[in-house]
Amino acid sequence: MKRPRSALKKLRILISAGPTQEPLDPVRSLTSGSSGRMGFALAKRAAECGARVILVSGPASLPTPRGVRRIDVVTAREMKAALLKHASSADIIFMTAAVLDWRPRHTSTEKLKRSRNGQWWQLSLVENPDILRALGRHKRPQQILVGFALETTNLLQRARKKLEQKNCDWIVANDITALGASLAKAVLLSQDGRRYHLPKLAKDQLASKILSLVSHR
Ligand code: C5P
Repeated sequence: MKRPRSALKKLRILISAGPTQEPLDPVRSLTSGSSGRMGFALAKRAAECGARVILVSGPASLPTPRGVRRIDVVTAREMKAALLKHASSADIIFMTAAVLDWRPRHTSTEKLKRSRNGQWWQLSLVENPDILRALGRHKRPQQILVGFALETTNLLQRARKKLEQKNCDWIVANDITALGASLAKAVLLSQDGRRYHLPKLAKDQLASKILSLVSHR
């Protein structure tokens, strides 16, 4: 299963990582519990193997791996713009980011104040773009597109559906215990019906295995 270093050498790899964050007002935002570790581990390992790596990261307090070009973004729309800018020249795209599916319909320019009468208030949300779906729609013939799926129920069934709907070549299915953790267990599903169950591993090791499987043509 292990690929020689040369399998990734000079390949252009685009990776998204971390959560996105959607501001409610100048001091508060909606976000998810993603640490960014999986995407950063993939970036580190790919760069060590000689790939040219661009890492588009939402807010994550992790150091940039050596040799990796990092682009920091905050919102889903910023992440989409950065990824689409670099997607056409990428050989492999890993979409590990936990993109917020919604954003507040309005962002207040001033800090929101609590009401004094203890009443509830409503937050209106609008849908964010599905970046992976857009990448799938514009995929080049030789490009490999890898999505990630994290689910609380029916993991494999939902992951397979996402693989097809978003036109991915691979999907990496994680259960909820992977979120923000340093260890994760994963199942890789390919568009042509292959399935690999990977044991619980540190995300660095998992990154190596995922890279080997995905870059094996
Ligand atoms: O949120 P969901 O489970 O559909 O995410 C599956 C895949 O889609 C992940 O690779 C994630 O990065 C991507 N995604 C995206 N844009 C969104 C939501 C998810 O690219 N708005």
